[in-house]
Amino acid sequence: MADEFARIAAIAAALGDRAEGLGDDCAVLDGWVLTVDACVEGVHFPPRALDGAMLEDVGYRATVAAASDVLAMGAAPSAILSAWTLPDWLDDDGIARIARGQREACTALAAKIVGGNLSRGPALSLTTTVLGRAAHPVPRSGARPGERVLVFGALGEAALGLRALSLGSTHRCLDVFKRPPVLLAEAATLAAHATAMIDVSDGLGQDVGHLAAASRVRVELDASALLARVLTDTRALAATLGADLEQAVLAGGEDYALVATWPHDVAVPAGASVIGVCREGEGVFVRTADGALRAAPLGHRHGAGP
Ligand SMILES: [Mg+2]
Repeated sequence: MADEFARIAAIAAALGDRAEGLGDDCAVLDGWVLTVDACVEGVHFPPRALDGAMLEDVGYRATVAAASDVLAMGAAPSAILSAWTLPDWLDDDGIARIARGQREACTALAAKIVGGNLSRGPALSLTTTVLGRAAHPVPRSGARPGERVLVFGALGEAALGLRALSLGSTHRCLDVFKRPPVLLAEAATLAAHATAMIDVSDGLGQDVGHLAAASRVRVELDASALLARVLTDTRALAATLGADLEQAVLAGGEDYALVATWPHDVAVPAGASVIGVCREGEGVFVRTADGALRAAPLGHRHGAGP
């Protein structure tokens, strides 16, 4: 069965000359950036959202996850459309709780929901379309050899938090999964000088791989710099779970951190970390503490078949 990227290629081939500009975080049309993102029960959040306990979080996450692609273009989200598929188990109270989560996310994003659609279906899903404005959208394709790679936001925490959920834990990392950070100001800071940008939804290695491929550069990530950013309680959780911390940082998804490539003559913004460098070549590699280079692990691939 084809994976997500092969499927996108097959769809693009079938669309032929009726497809244009596929392959960035958002479409760009006359200064508008547009994206659409589906959040599906049993795929992106637990069935019945943990007997209703996570329904506000479902509304929040669906909105922030979709808006993250707009932020990754250096744009400010403004208008949102929300299409719901409602299963029989979801009652009116549950619907209101999801909407309250969307409201909180929209407040954090300074955006408004301006329309949508309701349908019935076998599983709860929220499909969120986000429109934003950018004077100069930042693509994935602008990185050049010699530039540094910066990150804003945590890496690996959401994936570890989701694993903690299965143990019944209430660790802070679970809150990161439920309520991903809204990096609105950080995106604007990066957009001022970033040559390329992407958000980390599927895992750092995979998403930086998209940036590297679009920019035709090789990215070398620094394992020491990545691990130095990990908070003490996250290390403790990884140890409790028996999880490989470096693997969680490099391949854990759903963090919605922002990664940008940065000119060598511009100061690194406060709060951002340098985690790597662009070189001539292709692919994403990790330089380990002993100086060795190895290929970065791929993260989650949506739509990957068995
Ligand atoms: Mg993205």
